[in-house]
Order: sequence, then C-alpha cells, then structure tokens
Amino acid sequence: MLTMNYRYRLYPDATQEQQLIEWMEICRGAFNYGLREIKDWCNSRKCAIDRCSLEKEYILPADLKFPGEIDQLNKLPSSKKEFPRLGAVPSQVLQQTIKQLHRAWEYFQARGFGFPRFKKFGQFKSLLFPQFPENPVTNFHLKLPKLGAIRINLHRPIPAGFALKQVRILRKADRWYASINIQCNVKVPTPMPHGHPIGVDIGLEKFLATSDGILVKPPKFFKQLLRQLKLLQRRLNRKQKRSFNYEKQRLKVARLHHKIDNTRKNFHFHQAHKLCDAGDSIFMEDLDYRVSAKGMFGKQMLDAAFGQFRTIVKYICWKRGKFFAEVDARGTSVECPNCGVNVKKDLSIRVHNCEHCGYIKDRDVAAGENIRNRGIKLISTLGHSGMETACAEGLPGIEATQSRQVSQSRKGATRKLKK
Ligand SMILES: [Zn+2]
Repeated sequence: MLTMNYRYRLYPDATQEQQLIEWMEICRGAFNYGLREIKDWCNSRKCAIDRCSLEKEYILPADLKFPGEIDQLNKLPSSKKEFPRLGAVPSQVLQQTIKQLHRAWEYFQARGFGFPRFKKFGQFKSLLFPQFPENPVTNFHLKLPKLGAIRINLHRPIPAGFALKQVRILRKADRWYASINIQCNVKVPTPMPHGHPIGVDIGLEKFLATSDGILVKPPKFFKQLLRQLKLLQRRLNRKQKRSFNYEKQRLKVARLHHKIDNTRKNFHFHQAHKLCDAGDSIFMEDLDYRVSAKGMFGKQMLDAAFGQFRTIVKYICWKRGKFFAEVDARGTSVECPNCGVNVKKDLSIRVHNCEHCGYIKDRDVAAGENIRNRGIKLISTLGHSGMETACAEGLPGIEATQSRQVSQSRKGATRKLKK
C-alpha cells in the first residue's frame, strides 16, 4: 500500500472562511471539554477514597469509569441536544477531534510525560475530513460537506490509480491549505543498499559535507529573513494588545514565519534531491538534534532544522529508490577516516590533519567519510551486501536464503518453548 500526502493551496471565499474558522472554534471547545473530563477524572482519583485531600478534590462517583474514547464518541449525539452549536460541524470532523485527543492521551501514556494541554484561542489549526463517498476534487474545486465547493489550486494532478482517502484542512497564517491523503494499492519494494555510498555530515559552519568532498554553505536568506522578523516582532511588541493594529501586525509576523518555513523546506528538498543525484546509498548520523539545540548555538540549530532535513532526505530516498540508513554518530568528527586514530580538534580548526598517517582533509569532509565508512560497515554486518558484493545485489538467492534461515531457526525456538 502506497500512501502519500499532497498539499494544495485553497482559496475559500469570505463566508466559507468564516465558517471554517467557526468550525475550528467549535472543535476546539469539544477538545477542551473532553480533556477537562479526563483531567477531572484523574484528579479525583489522586487521593484515597476515605479521606480528603487538601488541594485537589473532585467528588466524582467512585464507580465512574474513565472517560474513554468510545464513551466520549458515544456521548456526542446526546450532547448535540445540549449544545446545538456542535451540530453545525460535520459529525465526522467532530469525531476526529475526540479521536485526536485520545491519540494524544495514548501517546502521553506510552511515553510517560507530555500531558495533553488545553488549546487556547487560535491554537486549533486543522480539521480532518476522514471519509468521502465520492471523489471531492475536481479541476478547480474541492467539495466539502456542509460547505460546498472551495476553490483549489491543483498545481499538480493527483496521479492516476490513486484513491483519495482523507482531507485535512490547514490554516497557516492567513492562508488555507488542503493536505490530501492518497493511496494506491501497489507494493513498493524497500530499497536495498547498492551503488555508490555517500556519507553526509551536517553542521552549522557548512550546511552539509559529503564524503565526495561536496560542501554546501548554509543559505544566506535565513539570516536576512531573521533580521526582518526581528524588526516585525519589535513593532508588534509596541502595539497595544488586542487592538486592531496589534492583530494586523501579528498577522505580518505569522506570514513571515510561514515564509521562512517554506523557504527552508524548499531548500531542504533541493539539497535532498542533489544528494540522491550524487549517490545511491545515503548515510547520516543518528543524532538527536534537539539535544544540541539546547546548547550554545541553539537558535542556529533550530533554524537550520536538521531533523526536518533528515526526514526529508529519508523520504526522497524512499521515493527515488535509494538506500538510506542512520549510523552511530559518536566521534565522527574526531576519528581519522584513513587509519581510525582519534585526532582531537576544537571547533576553530577546520582541517583534519592526522599525525599518525599524515592524512589531510577538510574537517567536515573527513566526518562525512567516517559516516560513509560506518554505513558500509553497518550494511555488511546487517547481512546485506557490502560494497564489494554490491554487484551481486538483485541476483536470485542472496536475500532469500538468508531470510529462510532466520525464519526456520525461529520456528524451532517456538517449538522448543511449547515442549
Ligand atoms: Zn590517520
């Protein structure tokens, strides 16, 4: 099953826009109500039932069940009588809101932190339409229930053979988008390691450095746009809150943020495609960039959005049939790619100069070479074909025998357990 998301720009007219905003507000209310129920229930279970807590005491009946997803969904029709406003939104969209709350709740349960939060005014920014009885997209319009046809810019056609599954309406600054989820019933083989390997090191000094010696400087427009942003934010700060002028200025800031976001994403996509042009197997570090974003260059790290870049590279590799893997990042900038000795150097030294074997390379390129070497090692230990046997890739028998061996040994293990 092949699933993709295509995003198109929408141009709702004034009444449609008003209605969409109103729906978001109603859904926000439903979300917050559901969350309140969960929170009350949790708070009322915090102290033992036969004594009183001094701080938190919500007297809910002791046999009251946890307000689960299905309970809350089932309560929607009856609550529509109590709050007729709820009826204005298509019921499936409202159901999705409750589901969204419970996805957040489950995620919180699984990872142990990150309690879902109440959504303030303006923090609810999308609506999900999960089902369509017939294809809602024509050449110029997107048809939504209770809203009619909205003008759409179908800048690229939905490819043939794909069925439209869901539509998410997004609001970014004052712009509207439709993120259309399309599916096609085909099997896509996962790309196997093959061809020319490339290690990619990313950093602030150079946006990226590959093991082939290609260096890409960090783009200049970030800095320019940041300066502009600073100016706009300063102006915003001087406006009186909640005034009409404040709102106007706030919109300007939001638009600029949106522009920065788009420019950056565009740059990332271009770079990812260039990487895929240059090689067939691409390796990157498995760093968690959020950790380094807490350090000295936090702002720059966040601005460059390395995590997003890696996700995009992964996606482009998958789309173009190239192999992608992450390798252990420890010490990639220290190790000598030629002999493996650790050569310590601080950030100001830009050249890797090995005393042991006399290997001289640009610092970032050396890191890229390290990543490539580790990648090759990784795929050879994984049991895939390494660099030398790369030509054997695709011949019958290589992968198949291996997977058969694995499954057989597993079968034996379970049988033994049963005895
Ligand atoms: Zn060396």
